[in-house]
Amino acid sequence: MKISEFQKMILEIYGSRDSNRGVERTFLWLVEEIGELAEAVRKNDKTAIEEELADVIAWTVSVANLAGIDVEKAIKKKYPGVCPKCKSSPCTCKGGDDVSSN
Ligand SMILES: [Mg+2]
Ligand SMILES: [Zn+2]
Repeated sequence: MKISEFQKMILEIYGSRDSNRGVERTFLWLVEEIGELAEAVRKNDKTAIEEELADVIAWTVSVANLAGIDVEKAIKKKYPGVCPKCKSSPCTCKGGDDVSSN
């Protein structure tokens, strides 16, 4: 499945509910799911990581739908096959291994 197809699928399933909830509260749900993913990673629970990653991506796409963003287009624009900063692949940026690098 392409990312654009996934985004459309989520729109069909949850578009109405997402719309009623609004972008700010939908974003809070995304943060909640990131918290669940953090816990799964901390526990090194592969089954849970798999499930929570799916949730994070689904809620990310819901936020995109509400914000009117085409995720596939956004990804291709920012990541056109190379690192957006050093413009090479693999990335040759200095540092980049800490959480504040992007
Ligand atoms: Mg979850
Ligand atoms: Zn780079």
